[in-house]
Amino acid sequence: MSWVAELARPEIRALKPYQHAAWEPQLERLHANELPWRVEGDASQAGLNRYPEPQPPSLVQGLARVYGVPAEQLLVGRGSDEAIDLLVRVFCRAQRDNVIVCPPTFGMYGVAARIQGAEVVTAPLDAARGFALDVEAVLASVTDDTRLVFVCSPNNPTGNALDRAGMLDLAHRLAPRALLVVDEAYIEFSDTASLASEIGATPNLAVLRTLSKAHGLAGARCGTLLAAPEVIALARKVIPPYAITELTVEAVAPLLTPAGIAAMQARIATLRSERERMAQALARIPSITRVWPSDANFLLVESPVVDEVLARVKGVGLIIRDVRQPLLPRAVRISIGTPEQNDRLLRSLS
Ligand code: PMP
Repeated sequence: MSWVAELARPEIRALKPYQHAAWEPQLERLHANELPWRVEGDASQAGLNRYPEPQPPSLVQGLARVYGVPAEQLLVGRGSDEAIDLLVRVFCRAQRDNVIVCPPTFGMYGVAARIQGAEVVTAPLDAARGFALDVEAVLASVTDDTRLVFVCSPNNPTGNALDRAGMLDLAHRLAPRALLVVDEAYIEFSDTASLASEIGATPNLAVLRTLSKAHGLAGARCGTLLAAPEVIALARKVIPPYAITELTVEAVAPLLTPAGIAAMQARIATLRSERERMAQALARIPSITRVWPSDANFLLVESPVVDEVLARVKGVGLIIRDVRQPLLPRAVRISIGTPEQNDRLLRSLS
């Protein structure tokens, strides 16, 4: 067994996974206790009376092409939220192991860890360096029971991409003790390249991608874990067999074609130009004291009068995120909207 697989919980390594009904499309299915009839109003291609194929190969192949990885490095789940949960459940022994997170960051890493009974250790980003990853602080926090380190690039809610060399250095120095999980939910909005290409040479590196942001499919719930094949095999034991719905498979397929990807790139270009317009316009508003640079589809903004900002925006029918916390005492996060929504938000604060 490889050293990365040895970091997993022993009971998961030993687990015999659930044996789902065999996938034999040339035979008529009397082996899965499904209803034999398609119900009225079911417009799906495959028929929703049937269970979907586990890890649907067409979807896996399409995602592998888009993310530039071999299919055996990929597991598709219900959003990257599920990938986070799977990693924690595969690697963290309850009441014993810990994960390291780098606040201010996405809250689900800590929540998933606590649900599993794992301790959450923090190694904050360095605000003085634009919320940069503090590799030495992370390494200083590692204990014998650290299994996962979560970083997010571009980071939510600060918006900045983390230094690629720093993340790779961290992954190498965490070996053979722990995995580095790099959440790239917002990477399509940035100029930075994915770390997925490094997985082959760095078996303790896992990368999270999602169709919820740039691809515009948050409602389809489709996210991907990219990792060494032995990590994928372990996560596959834990994910429910029919996690991906047939409706998702059918909705996603056209968007992963070259035409679908080209359309996505056009939307990203519009969003990025709106992001720059908003950053400049917000910086001119007296009640906004700081607009942080963003590589994502949102802006982190500081104001000494956050409650007033929230109320004014609400007054024009919009809602933005109050992200105040000890490390961000005066901050809100504004998702970039349509040009009309962005104009309305600016007017509400002017
Ligand atoms: N990672 C980050 C950084 C996020 O901001 C989000 C959504 N807010 C997710 C993961 C989860 O996304 P999903 O489950 O829709 O893929």
